[in-house]
Amino acid sequence: MTVKLYWEDGRLTRFAARVTDAWPQGAHRIVALDQSAFYPTGGGQPCDTGSINAARVIDVEMADDGRILHRLDSDVTFSVGEEVTCEVDWRRRREMTQQHTGQHILSQAFFRLFGAETKGFRITDRATEIDLTLEAQPDEIERAIARAEELANDVVFDNREIRVHMVTPEEAAVLPLRKESFITDCVRVIEIDDYDLSPCGGTHAERTGEVGLITVRGWERAKKMTRVHFLCGVRALDDYREASRSVDSIALKFSAGREEAESSVTRLIDENKRLSRRARELAGIVAKVEAHELIEGAEPVGGARIVSRVFEDRDIEELKLLAHRLVDGDNVVALLASKEGGTARLVFARSANLSADMNALMRAACERLGGRGGGKPEFAQGGGPKVSELDRALEEAWTTVRSI
Ligand SMILES: [Zn+2]
Repeated sequence: MTVKLYWEDGRLTRFAARVTDAWPQGAHRIVALDQSAFYPTGGGQPCDTGSINAARVIDVEMADDGRILHRLDSDVTFSVGEEVTCEVDWRRRREMTQQHTGQHILSQAFFRLFGAETKGFRITDRATEIDLTLEAQPDEIERAIARAEELANDVVFDNREIRVHMVTPEEAAVLPLRKESFITDCVRVIEIDDYDLSPCGGTHAERTGEVGLITVRGWERAKKMTRVHFLCGVRALDDYREASRSVDSIALKFSAGREEAESSVTRLIDENKRLSRRARELAGIVAKVEAHELIEGAEPVGGARIVSRVFEDRDIEELKLLAHRLVDGDNVVALLASKEGGTARLVFARSANLSADMNALMRAACERLGGRGGGKPEFAQGGGPKVSELDRALEEAWTTVRSI
């Protein structure tokens, strides 16, 4: 078994050790040492990285036999018994320790305030997650999270001492531990002064102040539990910087202070809704005027007027609006098309007093366009990818209507 130096001293980063085994694996080399300060992936916490001599340690695992196996990014050779110089990447260790210790603090806050137990825990690249037995309405969960976050940060600001105890299973049995331990030989208990007792094999801060700010980013229902995402220490600082940059950038667009950023956005959204409503009203008026002009300009065929027009950039809603206004009165057939976005779109409509079948007309036109379409005898829509056939399709429709 490898001696776990990280259990004795969470701040140890430089250490010497002897190689007990080493073997190649693909382009990498796996190295086992007699003692190691490298934390192996486990218990929801990702492993440390760093170096052994000049080689980079990219992964660390705990083998079933209790040896810590270090994966190096090169195939440099080692001999058994050789002394090596090792260094753990402190910035990464500190980041992980902050998230992990923060989890103890936040989990106890949920337990103390609401009796919610932590059933799952993992540190991901982006955040840390805990799965809680917390069941309530969304607004109640929001309030519970706010209270737990408040208590957790109080414990951080108190800068309480964190102590590590190695106890026997018998001793552990009488301690008020937050979660059940399944370790049978000896139990490592992490005590946060006058706050939390929890069996754990991870790396922890020496005082709660080292954890830094604890901030909850969000929550969701998962596996019939409440999954809370949070950030501690350097990650909370990075998130604060990003959020701050974002709100400053929004405020700048309004030439406002950051305190007015939210109200400025709300005003803009309200204004946009009002303008959209107004634009729809005006589009209705414009369509009426345009319809009138198009009917006036169309050549009379028998007792009816056929309005046939191809537009460059109108969407289907604009075509439909104009078609409706064109056929509001008697004796009009509207054959409208658009090439917007490189697709042929069609709307065919006729006045209620006429009998030409727009549905049949549309199906024939869409076949030519290589697309699909249809509708009712008095109103149909469709389209297709063959924009080059659009003029021919309209011409055919026009000829058909004319002959009815
Ligand atoms: Zn722990």
